[in-house]
Amino acid sequence: MKKIVLGLAALGLAVSAAQAQTYPQRPITMIVPFAAGGPTDVIARIVGDHMSRTLGQQIVIENVAGAGGTTGITRAAQSQPDGYTIMMGHMGTHGAAPALYPSLKYDPTKDFAPIGLAAGTPIIIVAKKDFPAKDLKGFVDYMKANGEKVNMAHAGVGSVSHMTGIFFSSVIKTKPTMVTYRGTGPALNDLMANSVDYMTDQIVNVAPQIQGGTIKAFAIATPERSPALPNLPTTKEAGLDGFEVSAWNAVFAPKGTSPEIVKKLNDALVKALDDENTKKRLLDLGGVIPTGAERTPAALQKLVESEVARWTPVLKAAGATAE
Ligand code: ASP
Repeated sequence: MKKIVLGLAALGLAVSAAQAQTYPQRPITMIVPFAAGGPTDVIARIVGDHMSRTLGQQIVIENVAGAGGTTGITRAAQSQPDGYTIMMGHMGTHGAAPALYPSLKYDPTKDFAPIGLAAGTPIIIVAKKDFPAKDLKGFVDYMKANGEKVNMAHAGVGSVSHMTGIFFSSVIKTKPTMVTYRGTGPALNDLMANSVDYMTDQIVNVAPQIQGGTIKAFAIATPERSPALPNLPTTKEAGLDGFEVSAWNAVFAPKGTSPEIVKKLNDALVKALDDENTKKRLLDLGGVIPTGAERTPAALQKLVESEVARWTPVLKAAGATAE
């Protein structure tokens, strides 16, 4: 009996090795856990576009929004680990979620085969064009004076805009009213329509509207300014200490995906990040291209572990929870 089981296991390995060799033979689905048009979606489309050329198969983006990105990531984590369903996660789904969802159905540190980091995305504090403040100091003063009357947009509990928004509120000690969206793409539309007050979001979503003057930007939450928005001061330059945060997006496959397939996907991602046109598209939006050392599956695994460890106490101290 033991022999038969071992024999079957060996056969299974042989089949999966053969499948890995010929992979991919049909289109690959990349689950984006937020609405179309937002930063996760945009990064997935830019990077996926080039990856599909290397892989010789289309990468089809499927937007599965809800619960701050955890709905889509849960579905992706539970799909067949055959390389035909992958996902674009981020600092929220793979960093903040465990602190905010006590019954989260996946463990970011254990249930994935990391592929690689796709882009770094500094956080920017943006507001509707008519917001009655002209700089960060005026904005903070207004927030403190008006409390719940101010509406903060975010992409669901545990999303980057939510976690960084809570973090911002805890630094400046205010409690705005939170307004939930299925992604910061739709949130940005409402910001442009002046129907919500502000948000803290990933640069790749908001840079074009800041450049075009359709929304206001008060500061970028990184130690250095962004080359894409050279006139925008850092939070520190604008007089605010303690609010520095940069997010990231990364490609994952479900746990159990074979190492050969992980390698093929990682190679395709690395090629995309080395491609001049792909790089330019990301850089023009203020994205930060991962360094060689940051692009490996092992580096992504480490990043996820350190992000979960970093955000859990911050979010618990802020008293945030989804349930
Ligand atoms: N940037 C969003 C977030 O707050 C999600 C998105 O629409 O990509 O997590």
